[in-house]
Amino acid sequence: MTQVSEPAAGSDPATSQGVPGPDDPLPPVVLGSLSPSRAADFKSCPLLYRFRCVDRLPEAPSPAATRGTLVHAVLESLFDLPAAERTLERARDLLPAAWERVRAETPDVESLFPEGASGTEFAEWLASAADLLGNYFRLEDPSRLEPASREERVEVVVDGLRLRGIIDRLDVSPAGDIRVVDYKTGATPREAFEAKALFQMKFYALVLWRTRGVVPRQLRLMYLADTDTLSYAADEDELRRFERTLKAIWAAISRAMQTGDFRPSPSRLCDWCDHKPICPAHGGTPPPFPQSPVLTDPRDALPVTP
Ligand code: SF4
Repeated sequence: MTQVSEPAAGSDPATSQGVPGPDDPLPPVVLGSLSPSRAADFKSCPLLYRFRCVDRLPEAPSPAATRGTLVHAVLESLFDLPAAERTLERARDLLPAAWERVRAETPDVESLFPEGASGTEFAEWLASAADLLGNYFRLEDPSRLEPASREERVEVVVDGLRLRGIIDRLDVSPAGDIRVVDYKTGATPREAFEAKALFQMKFYALVLWRTRGVVPRQLRLMYLADTDTLSYAADEDELRRFERTLKAIWAAISRAMQTGDFRPSPSRLCDWCDHKPICPAHGGTPPPFPQSPVLTDPRDALPVTP
């Protein structure tokens, strides 16, 4: 297990520019990379993983997912305000600027609202985002919180496998206890979906444990659509087992890359899958598997293998 960290302040300039000094340990050899979303994709449907990470097929933006991005952007900005100003009214005031940022980063979201920002559809959608913010304030009072970080990129290399993700919020108590917070803007999941949500949280807990040497005290999912929370605590044994699960997922991805055998695994998720028309489980034909396939996580367009 190798921790990936920023160079310390005052370190050798050559080293900080990426040139190892004579006494520096060799950088970790990275053979593969997983984020919680992509690992969960492969686990739920290997063919979906292939469509996203090998074929990199485009997916249309959805109002629900875009609303989620918007609400996350507001909640991130909210903590830039002084504690006393973190009110629901101020949070709702942040919506227009957050929408501009979302539009700038993903221009295709404009296609969701053909009538533009003055249309009724957009107004109703924005009002539903404002409602989610109202629900957030029913769950906690942000004026009483000082998060240690927001939207933090975390990463660790474990036996050649890079695990990486972005954590919505980290709270650290004066005693050093860590709480991982993730905002969900969909409805509280039933059992299967809850397992998927916890998969993501265990992923973050593992990366934090491996980078900081501390198992987070609490993993907290905040379901804004129905004003509910789900809290979970993982221990070291569970995280070790989870690490083995991730390595097994990566081994299965590597085998599939060699054979091109990414099988469909139909489930309720198919109803939301953009690729259903070309899925053999639904009578479709996928594109031919590339001769020299490359894995790329579409979220950040970084190659998964070096
Ligand atoms: S339609 Fe279902 S089985 Fe097919 S790729 Fe999508 S999620 Fe997988």
